[in-house]
Amino acid sequence: MAPKSKSNQDPYFKPGSKVEIMSDEAGFRGSFYIGTVMKATRTPEFTVRYEKLFEDEEGTKPLQETVNEFQIRPIAPREKKREFKFSEEVDAFHNDGWWEGVITEVNENGKFAVFFRSTKEQIEFVEEDLRLHREWVNGEWKPPLEGEEEKGEKEEVEEKGNKGSRKKKKLSEEDEKEVTKEVKRRVSEDFFDLIDIDSFGSDISLFLRSAMNTLSFDGLLYVTSTDGHSSGGHHPDHSLAAFGAYVRPMPYSNEVGLRMLIGGAVREASVLGYYITPLFSYYSYHGPVFRVMLRVNRGKLLENRHYGFITYCNNCGNSQEFSWAELGQISCSCSGSHGSRSLVISGPLWTGPLHSAAYIIK
Ligand SMILES: [Zn+2]
Repeated sequence: MAPKSKSNQDPYFKPGSKVEIMSDEAGFRGSFYIGTVMKATRTPEFTVRYEKLFEDEEGTKPLQETVNEFQIRPIAPREKKREFKFSEEVDAFHNDGWWEGVITEVNENGKFAVFFRSTKEQIEFVEEDLRLHREWVNGEWKPPLEGEEEKGEKEEVEEKGNKGSRKKKKLSEEDEKEVTKEVKRRVSEDFFDLIDIDSFGSDISLFLRSAMNTLSFDGLLYVTSTDGHSSGGHHPDHSLAAFGAYVRPMPYSNEVGLRMLIGGAVREASVLGYYITPLFSYYSYHGPVFRVMLRVNRGKLLENRHYGFITYCNNCGNSQEFSWAELGQISCSCSGSHGSRSLVISGPLWTGPLHSAAYIIK
């Protein structure tokens, strides 16, 4: 959000400046429309005139409105040329405005399917109508405009960590029969390919379970939590009740929040005989918002792999992962083999990869 006091001297919002205006109307919330600043007052309000929204149906009289400073921002930049990928958060131009969504399919015809959380719709777009999603924070775009080089770092790390989790499991004959039955059931009936779940953790574990049951085979679950208190370790009893994880304060609470969310879903899935694979995870400091895209399949998570404990040492700053079997041996090397007061333990959490490189690259 823009700093409060200096907003009206802001060079971006002088009369005549082109801006993007966030709609505050139900059904349009969060979408941005192009307009021009007409007037800035001393209060944090601006009069703006829309480029493509009109007062009359004939479209002769541009709509003029007074909006709050938090509703306007400069025109978002975009790369000259960009290859959009699966799972990227994008803005798509739709109905004269920019809407935030996520790429759920990269199609052969060069088009991209974008899923919109606000309307729970999936719509296909051409590249020209997409831009990377950015937020205007303290006078800067986040993430900033990309240079010539793109970092490949993320993918590499994930690929490495992900190899094991995509290994195919050998099925017994009985398992196979069971799976075939399940496939038939899911293909023949009306199941959803993608279900969006808002605010997991707020007493909706039951909803998560019913969603898993109505998901088609190999279906996707898009789960969101806005519980920043739990991930920060400030309410361990609450996080235990909501996500099944006792979370203590650790310096990387954003990552812990995602691992707590996935771990909670792992637990719910296992009750029903499913296992999940995180396809991508996303954290936004606005909210905060934790989002994960999960693939749900029938079967068990092997040996509770990737579902364990994470420690942080307040003395040396080391972080370690411990499995359930290692619980009795938890210690930090800085204090020898005996337990230490400086050690903070959170879990159980998802300790596996937060993204599936194979899926994202596809
Ligand atoms: Zn230590």
